[in-house]
Amino acid sequence: MKYVSTRGGIDPVDFQDAVMMGLADDGGLLVPARIPDLSGDPAAPATLGYRALAERVMAPYIGDIPPADLSDLLARSYGASFSADGQVAPVVSVGPMWIQELWHGPTLAFKDVALQLLGHLFEYILAARNERLTILGATSGDTGSAAIEGVRGREGIEIFMMHPAGRVSSVQERQMTSALDLNVHNIAVAGSFDDCQEIMKSIAGDLDFKRRHTIGAVNSVNWARVLAQIVYYFYGALRVCAATGADRVRVAVPTGNFGNILAGWYAAKMGAPIEKLILATNENDILARFFNSGDYSKGDVYRTINPSMDIQVASNFERYLYYRLGGDPAALREKMAAFAAEGRLLFDDRCPADLDFTAASCREERALATISRYYTEHGYLLDPHTAAGVAVAESMGVEGAPLLCLATAHPAKFPEAVERALGTREPARHPAIDALAGMATRCAELPADAGAVREYIERTVGE
Ligand SMILES: *Cc1c(COP(=O)(O)O)cnc(C)c1O
Repeated sequence: MKYVSTRGGIDPVDFQDAVMMGLADDGGLLVPARIPDLSGDPAAPATLGYRALAERVMAPYIGDIPPADLSDLLARSYGASFSADGQVAPVVSVGPMWIQELWHGPTLAFKDVALQLLGHLFEYILAARNERLTILGATSGDTGSAAIEGVRGREGIEIFMMHPAGRVSSVQERQMTSALDLNVHNIAVAGSFDDCQEIMKSIAGDLDFKRRHTIGAVNSVNWARVLAQIVYYFYGALRVCAATGADRVRVAVPTGNFGNILAGWYAAKMGAPIEKLILATNENDILARFFNSGDYSKGDVYRTINPSMDIQVASNFERYLYYRLGGDPAALREKMAAFAAEGRLLFDDRCPADLDFTAASCREERALATISRYYTEHGYLLDPHTAAGVAVAESMGVEGAPLLCLATAHPAKFPEAVERALGTREPARHPAIDALAGMATRCAELPADAGAVREYIERTVGE
């Protein structure tokens, strides 16, 4: 399989180069040259275990890693680190809903599913090429810890993760800074998340710096993250179909950067039994507005109880838009330039209504009420992101194809929201979170200044 840029400005590359490139060199996003069709594959039954299914789903996208090596990478990614009960993405039945728990990895959020694999992929590729990689990231919460867990202790990789000092939750901060491995470098930046992102862009755009260091991307622009996520859509949809006798399911996804649900769209195109993707946003509803009225326009970012959905510009949306525009890089470039200039895109008949998606937003009161109701009526505790997904899924009507909602985090990561919903945070305990309180931490503190961060990286990598 070859990968091309949504903006059409690079020669097609193989999978391993796509993983290393992250963002395409022309500023676009890498997409596979075609989407494999597994619908006629009689050997993708609901009985396959997670790893065997992952091999089936991923192999057609990976022409340059031998099957035995892929199998080995999957065994290492989805073994001990998901060990709680040996399950990667179990599906449970809760009242009118099927819930797919994607939080069984080390940081208790769905991002582990992709980042555990990405860490092993980087290590594999670097060893074969005898290269080293410097990862520079900015996080407002969940991505940082999952990325650090994915690469801590891995050969040939240094990770520098910036977060805005004092502006991530104490759980999220400790999940990052308690990783004491020598290749992990947390940086608390005296500024906002936007400052962190600006610093990252400035350093990544510094060609001289880039020549001296191979820079890797762990955010969801990296194709490997989308690919890893396609697997659990197959797994969940096949499981629910097998349990209910239905031929298709509706899948609800708490959405921020559009990375998770985009994988669901690929899965549906590949033949997973998905009738509809239900996109749930919080008060930051640019995507819901787009799918309901064709209006994609930036607003202010609100801070909410489900902070991983607090975005206005969804980086992975570009991949989807590329397909909506018929895979035409010139049309895509025109749209992206217009959006950069005006902060707004309006869609007309060149981009007709999409039958794959339906979308709605869920406000704070409703998310809190949903946490409370599911706990009282079904004895099941939702985290505030998953609660938004469940509330929006219910609003689509429980009659019809079964509803499967992706649980993107364990509630113990967001004890304040749970306490507001229930009056106590006690049910939201998890041993991995409790253990953080007593752990040693390490973190550099730097001003919000690209020069200072660049100098810190040079000094640290040079050691
Ligand atoms: C990252 C995250 C999301 C949003 O996922 P996207 O891929 O950005 O749409 C939702 N819930 C949780 C808990 C997350 O960590």
